[in-house]
Amino acid sequence: MEQIKAQRGADLRCKSWRQEALLRLLENVLENAEDQENLVVYGALGKAARNWPSYHAIVATLKDLEEDETLIIQSGKPIGIIKTHTNAPLVIMANGNLVGQWAKSDHFYELQKKGLICWGGLTAGDWQYIGSQGVIQGTYEIFQTIARKYFHSDLSGRFILTAGLGGMGSSQPLAGVMAGAAILCVDVNEEHIDKRIKSGYLQRKTAELDVALRWIQEATENKQSVSVGLIGNAAEIYPEILKRDIIPDIVSDQTAAHDLIYGYIPAGYRLTDVETVRQSDPERLANDAGQSIAAEVSAMLQFKRKGSIVFDNGNNIRTQAFKYGVNDAFDIDIFTEAFLRPLFSRAIGPFRWIALSGEAEDINLIDKYILKEFAENEIVVNWIRLAHKYVPFQGLPARIGWLGHGERTRLALAVNQMVADGLLKGPIAFTRDHLDAGAMTHPNIMTERMKDGSDAVTDWPLLNAMTNCSSMADLVAIHSGGGGYTGYMQSAGVTLVADGTEAAGKRLKCTLDNDTTLGVLRYADAGYEEALDEVHQKGIHRIETNNYQGVEKHA
Ligand code: NAD
Repeated sequence: MEQIKAQRGADLRCKSWRQEALLRLLENVLENAEDQENLVVYGALGKAARNWPSYHAIVATLKDLEEDETLIIQSGKPIGIIKTHTNAPLVIMANGNLVGQWAKSDHFYELQKKGLICWGGLTAGDWQYIGSQGVIQGTYEIFQTIARKYFHSDLSGRFILTAGLGGMGSSQPLAGVMAGAAILCVDVNEEHIDKRIKSGYLQRKTAELDVALRWIQEATENKQSVSVGLIGNAAEIYPEILKRDIIPDIVSDQTAAHDLIYGYIPAGYRLTDVETVRQSDPERLANDAGQSIAAEVSAMLQFKRKGSIVFDNGNNIRTQAFKYGVNDAFDIDIFTEAFLRPLFSRAIGPFRWIALSGEAEDINLIDKYILKEFAENEIVVNWIRLAHKYVPFQGLPARIGWLGHGERTRLALAVNQMVADGLLKGPIAFTRDHLDAGAMTHPNIMTERMKDGSDAVTDWPLLNAMTNCSSMADLVAIHSGGGGYTGYMQSAGVTLVADGTEAAGKRLKCTLDNDTTLGVLRYADAGYEEALDEVHQKGIHRIETNNYQGVEKHA
């Protein structure tokens, strides 16, 4: 089968750059996909389209779509086109949503088998995935926050143990090296390890634990950074390291533990066994995966007791371990609450931009602009310098940068002007992760232990999607869990195209301002000081109802 790659250059196949941009983003997620043949982009099952006929139909439709039309997509399948207007989204989609009582893995897989639904992950189904870089700054900021909190702002000489070198997990070795640490990443799949070495995200590999530990020890003694990929199963390797009484400074895991059938590989299984048992006895496979996760999380808890900083990196590993009898699994912190919530409270989150021309120079020019014009923002300036040095591009050149309310609009409008002035080789798409202030409800990841107890209230991402539709975004999506995630989360995605026109400027300003406004309002509503300060500082129009004294009119 011919490999799909995103179109580069100035030639359009669609009726304007807005549609062309969305088509290139769809191609780009497939270019970066873990398993293109099955349309799986990342996260074990996260798909770009329901099936190949759906993919081809989406491509053909985008090529014909007028600017005053909107394409409707239901779980990766194009359903129809409606006549709207030139400021309406060109694409709206809902992926993997099931109502509460039916939102269970079994029911999801049943529907999937019948071809009625698919899981879009977060950024796979709505064509926003940019490879491992998408979460790399988040992982880096976690390591930096841990460094500030526990290690005098210095991770040199520190040992990080983690697992999972898949689409997202492979951000870990690079983020670890950028933070100056020695990081050991365990993965059962040698091919995935090789892929990361080839892409420059990982430095060394071995199948021997002794060798891996020796490389880590040498690096920590010499205060040098290193990333080591160890071929092995985390459920076996973590307890073994513990048995040797080697206590890492930081421990985490980013295997696809959210999914017991398609994600986490149980201890003792060869990769070839997994597919066979998945077909013949999925229940046994899930049970074995659950037991293995329990063993791994028990070791993580022991590491914590012995002094390691241990955290769940957003893969539901504690939830699975708890189901399989590890009653104290939630003693492990979730990364959002432990390290990132003060940023989210100000709606600072993983914003990203993608060069639709395919030219790396476009991203380099935007990097330069940020270094000059955002000089006061230490987090983003430090990050852009590091990213420029360390992060290889995957697919269309892209950059992630944690920016907040007002900053995103400032950057996007400046870039739109750069496109208008012909300084860039082509338009730029702006988007963000779903793990953003107003965009996600996930009581075991994003919204665990919210100050006001609103962890499971899913009105916010739904309001977020409606806000962005009414603010003229180019693509808006509402996602919910699939696979092992079913019933755990709801999220919303948004994409905009800076094509250098005045109309794009209006769309960018309205959507980006309102997207982060909703995020700040959510955290303000939950009582976070940083959000209340942001409301005050940035003049956000918040309605305070707690002490409302107005006269109510009754019919
Ligand atoms: P993926 O399916 O691409 O990769 C998972 C990797 O784990 C594979 O390389 C696989 O070989 C390996 N693996 C599975 N079982 C293992 C075991 N027992 N021991 C060692 N290695 C094992 O998934 P991904 O896209 O990398 O995502 C990983 C997890 O991170 C998912 O649960 C995803 O939902 C979550 N995630 C978190 C964030 C965040 O912001 N923190 C963002 C995106 C995804």
